[in-house]
Amino acid sequence: MILDGKQLSLKIRKQVKEKTLKLIEQYNKKPHLVVILIGENPASQSYVRSKERACIKAGFESTIIKKDVDITESELIDIIENLNNDDNVHGILLQLPIPKHIDEDKVLNLINPSKDVDGFHNINIAKLNKGQEALVPCTPLGITKILEEYSIDPTGKHCVIIGRSQIVGKPMAALMLKRNSTVTICHSKTRDIRDITKQADILIVAIGRAHMVDETFVKPGAVVIDVGINRVDGVLVGDVDFDKVKDIAEYITPVPGGVGPMTIACLLENTLTCYEAIEGKNND
Ligand code: NDP
Repeated sequence: MILDGKQLSLKIRKQVKEKTLKLIEQYNKKPHLVVILIGENPASQSYVRSKERACIKAGFESTIIKKDVDITESELIDIIENLNNDDNVHGILLQLPIPKHIDEDKVLNLINPSKDVDGFHNINIAKLNKGQEALVPCTPLGITKILEEYSIDPTGKHCVIIGRSQIVGKPMAALMLKRNSTVTICHSKTRDIRDITKQADILIVAIGRAHMVDETFVKPGAVVIDVGINRVDGVLVGDVDFDKVKDIAEYITPVPGGVGPMTIACLLENTLTCYEAIEGKNND
């Protein structure tokens, strides 16, 4: 069965829009997401455009601050600090990757954790790992929503995640642990990876290598979630070879139309969460 992230994302975006319209009446202000985009990376430009379109459709205010690749770290810090102090800004997103001369970890940790819609601030990471309420990175959050929508209960299941990035693999592991899965993380140094992935009831793949995972990695009846976005000859493909895996997996996400659209839907949700928390406090 195909896990239709596109359909679910539309449902969530509709709910976000309805809630937004009500809250704007209450607070007399729109949720406002500011995205900082540095340089001319075509993929980043395209992601930022999609985020802007989604914000506007949801009834949010959207601002993109574009800067040249030669922006200094202190100039970027000034921008972040101004946004932190601006009562009309509820969400701040620094589009990654950023140029190498800027300390990524340092600047991400200067974003006010209450406006950290990507969930990359150490405070939000710590809260997630402690199982507390937190702003959670959008892609793994979207994956948990797909599982919920299709009534796939992670409890007691063996969840194998390929990839240990801060954006996907690690927060995904924390979320699945919170949902009572037994979690294994694999990465480029993992030996005999198929022996591990073939034990997975839920296999989550976030590698960044087109079609690396074929039927030899998958246990019959598994749930397969493909996070990968790779462009091959101008076509978007996942890390999973969909045609080879679809008949042995019980559930599988397609690329495109699986995890990708859920990431944007969860960004809207996170922005709305920040807005509600900030405006709720201001209007107490
Ligand atoms: P990273 O490059 O940060 O991490 C990739 C991970 O895969 C690393 O942990 C790496 O291991 C591991 N890896 C690489 N090669 C192998 C291998 N041969 N065997 C096992 N593990 C391997 O990528 P991201 O997590 O940022 O992204 C992963 C994919 O997901 C990309 O295609 C990206 O475009 C996509 N993506 C999609 C999103 C969406 O909205 N759908 C959002 C974010 C990402 P090691 O740590 O040892 O190097």
